[in-house]
Amino acid sequence: MHDNSDIALIDTGLDLKLRPKDLLEFVGNEAIIERLKVIIHAAKQRGEAPSHLLFHGPPGLGKTTLAGIVAKEMGSNFITSSGPAIEKAGDLAGILTNLQENDILFIDEIHRLQKNIEEYLYSAMEDFSLDLMIDSGPSARSISVTLNKFTLVGATTKTGNLSAPLRSRFPVNLRLEYYDLSSLSKIILRSAKLLHVFIDPPSAEEIAKRSRGTPRVANNILRWVRDFAQLHNKNVIDEKTVSKACKMIAIDDLGLDEMDKKILKVIIDHHEGGPVGIKSIAASVGEEETTLTEVYEPYLIMKGLLKRTPRGREVTKNAYDHLGER
Ligand code: ADP
Repeated sequence: MHDNSDIALIDTGLDLKLRPKDLLEFVGNEAIIERLKVIIHAAKQRGEAPSHLLFHGPPGLGKTTLAGIVAKEMGSNFITSSGPAIEKAGDLAGILTNLQENDILFIDEIHRLQKNIEEYLYSAMEDFSLDLMIDSGPSARSISVTLNKFTLVGATTKTGNLSAPLRSRFPVNLRLEYYDLSSLSKIILRSAKLLHVFIDPPSAEEIAKRSRGTPRVANNILRWVRDFAQLHNKNVIDEKTVSKACKMIAIDDLGLDEMDKKILKVIIDHHEGGPVGIKSIAASVGEEETTLTEVYEPYLIMKGLLKRTPRGREVTKNAYDHLGER
């Protein structure tokens, strides 16, 4: 059996080359771009850091990229960290006290910050101050440190897991949407140019169709198709090559991979189409519950193959049709 999860989900590290550097290079999600333009322009006019921003949406849609673009457009330093990397309150204090005026601090997976650490962010975001405890025992006391004004950009795949106090401290909350075929095709053609790969627009669209509405997936499939074409001595990627290359890694023409199909099949074959609880599905397919809810389900729901109901997950008629069951 093929396991193509690396194609779908994991950042290959080569992304840097393909990452859009400014708002002009960023394709799709136009409504968000328009709002960011206003925010950046207004902040620049005032000579201030923009308001704190929260980006949310499934992985690979451009949250990190946009945070970097905000820093670049503002001419500010871009400091990055992530919820799981900040293990102690001292780690966060270190980051915050080192920030310079108008820096952009990006915290990825901000919903994974520990609650006791998260609380330090409240005053930092609101008043640019940090209350630190020094010493312990009878000589323990709290001192207030004034921070330089900065912009916190948070990214999360799960706003539902963000605490209400933290969420309410982000004046701007932007949801990235899955990309349509035309935007994905443009992204693929742009990436192909950067990678010196020759591909015609219809073949770019064939990759787009299999990209789960996600630029990261589109770029990863493009790289795989490039390798496949090279080994078959093809200088130009055509539709047939895309189709053969994707077949080899078990991505079908709706962009479903092995895991997507496994999820639907488990519900159909073992639970008569549902409803069935997510825990039970996770145990059957051998995947973490959070990965199912954050990565796989949103796309299956978007494609109209799966429904979330109060009693659990149910497949739709489309899922039976697509899998050729019944
Ligand atoms: P996220 O932080 O949401 O997981 P990233 O910002 O890391 O996503 O984006 C993943 C990759 O997809 C980037 O490296 C970039 O190459 C590409 N990408 C994302 N959004 C776009 C876009 N709108 N236009 C072009 N490429 C994009």
